Amino acid sequence: MVDYDVVVIGGGPGGYVAAIRCAQLGMNTACVDAGLNAKGEPTLGGVCLNVGCIPSKALLDSSHHFYALNHEFKNHGIACDNIKLDLSTMMKRKNDIVTSLTGGIAMLFLKNKVTWIKGHGRLVAHNHVEVETHEKKAKILELNAKHVIIATGSTPAELESIPFDGDSIIDSTSALSFKNIPKRLGVIGAGVVGLELGSVWSRLGSKTTVFNRSDTFLRTVDQELAQSVLHELKTQGLEIKMDLKINSIKKMAKHVTIKYSDKDGEQSLSVDKVLVAVGRKPNSDHINAEGVGLHINQRGFIEVDEYCRTNLPGVYAIGDVVRGPMLAHKASEEGIAVAERIAGQIAMIDFYRIPWVVYIWPELAWVGRTSEQLDALNTQYNTGVFHLRGNGRALSMGASSGLIKILSDAKTDEILGVHMFCPNASELIGEAVVAMEFHASAEDLARTIHAHPTVSEAIHEAALDVDNRSIHQ
Ligand code: FAD
Repeated sequence: MVDYDVVVIGGGPGGYVAAIRCAQLGMNTACVDAGLNAKGEPTLGGVCLNVGCIPSKALLDSSHHFYALNHEFKNHGIACDNIKLDLSTMMKRKNDIVTSLTGGIAMLFLKNKVTWIKGHGRLVAHNHVEVETHEKKAKILELNAKHVIIATGSTPAELESIPFDGDSIIDSTSALSFKNIPKRLGVIGAGVVGLELGSVWSRLGSKTTVFNRSDTFLRTVDQELAQSVLHELKTQGLEIKMDLKINSIKKMAKHVTIKYSDKDGEQSLSVDKVLVAVGRKPNSDHINAEGVGLHINQRGFIEVDEYCRTNLPGVYAIGDVVRGPMLAHKASEEGIAVAERIAGQIAMIDFYRIPWVVYIWPELAWVGRTSEQLDALNTQYNTGVFHLRGNGRALSMGASSGLIKILSDAKTDEILGVHMFCPNASELIGEAVVAMEFHASAEDLARTIHAHPTVSEAIHEAALDVDNRSIHQ
C-alpha cells in the first residue's frame, strides 16, 4: 500500500491540471491514467490532447490552408496550378503536435513531482484506489489517499442500435484519422463536434451532409447568430438537413445508406462514411461506483455539489464526468478549484462566465446569456449589434459575413452576454470574459480604445450600438 495526499483518477485536462495544482500546493500527488495512444503506449492529456481539441484544431488549420489555396488565393492575385493534397503528411503533422503536447505533460509531472501511474483505477473505498497497471503482466497497486479526485472524462455516445464499426460508421476519434478523403460524408448531429469535423472534411473536398434532428439550428446559441452561421455554412457548401428523424444507417457493399424521415416523408442518402456526433457519455461505469456507494445520476454523471464534492467524504469529481459544459477549460478550472479547496483556500467556478467556441470559419464564440435566455428570464436588456461588413480588418481578411452582439442590463448596463461570429472569435471572446468578470458595463467597453484596424473594433462598435451610437453602421 502506497500513501498519497491526493490520488487523481484520469489524466485529461481536468485530471492532469488538478494533479499539478495539488503538487504545487505541497501535496504528495499521484495521477492514474488508463490512456493509450494509437501505438498502444501510455499517454497523458485525455481526449483533449489525444483525440479532441488539439488534433481537431491541427486538421482545422490544414484544411483552411487547402481551402484558401483552392478558393481564395486567386482573389489575392495568387495563382496555383496542380494543387495536391497529401493526407498522410497532414495526419503526420497532426500526430506530431499531439506527441509534442502529451510528452509535455509528462515533463510537467516530472517537474512538479506528480507520480504518473499507468493503468486503470477504481475506488475500493472512499480513501483507497486500486490500479491495474498497463504492463504485459498487469500488476495490482493499492493506493491510500486522503483525497481522491475522479476525472475520468467521457466517450462518444452511439445511436441506439447503430454501433460504431470503426470504418464506415464512426465516432469523432476515427474522423480525425481518415486514410483517404471520403467523397461523401454524412454527419449525424449538428453540434460543436459535428460542425467542426464536418467543416474540416468539407474543406478538404468531401461532399458533406449534416443531419440535425431539431428544427432549431444550434439551439443553445443566440438565434440571431445561429441563423447567420447556418447561412454561411450553406454558402461554404455544407448541406444541412433539419427537423428529421434518422430511421436506420446500414453498411452496404460499397457505401452506407442513411434512411431518415422529414416533412416530405421517408428519404435516403448514400455516403461513404457516417460520422455520428450525437454527444458524449460520462465514463462512470468502470470505477466501482456501485461498490463504494458513489452517487451517479440517471444519465451516468457523478453527482457533485457546487464545490465538486461527491457524496463520499474526501472524494471529488470534475470535468466531463460531472454536470456542466463538456469543455476542456471547464474541466481544468474545476481541477484547480478542487486542488485549492483541498488546500484550504477559497475557489469557485462561475458557469455563467465560461466561454464557448465553435471552430468553424468565421469562428463562433459566446459568453453569458443569449437573447432567448434573457427573454425566458423576463430580464429587461438592451442590444448592440455590429455587422462585420463594416469592419475594415474583417473585409481585408475576406471574412466579413458575421456579427457581434452585446446584451446589457436595461437598468444597470452591466454586460449580460456577448456573442461573436467573426474571424478569431475564439481569441476575442477573452475580452468579453474579462469584462464580465469585472462586471463591466457596455459603456465601459464603448469607452475602451481598440486598435485600428482590428476585428476587435467590432466589439467596440457593438458596445456603442447598445446606446445607438455606432459610428460605422
Ligand atoms: P478526458 O479528456 O476525457 O480525460 C479523461 C482521462 O481519464 C482519459 O485519459 C482516460 O483514459 C482516463 N480514464 C478514464 N477512466 C479511467 C480509469 N478508470 N482509470 C484511469 N484513467 C481513466 N473542448 C474544448 O474546450 N475546446 C475544444 O476545442 C474541444 N474540441 C473537441 C473536439 C473533439 C473532436 C472532441 C471529441 C472533444 C472536444 N472538446 C473540446 C471537449 C474536451 O476534449 C473535453 O471536454 C475534455 O477533454 C474533458 O476533460 P476531462 O479531463 O474531463 O476528461
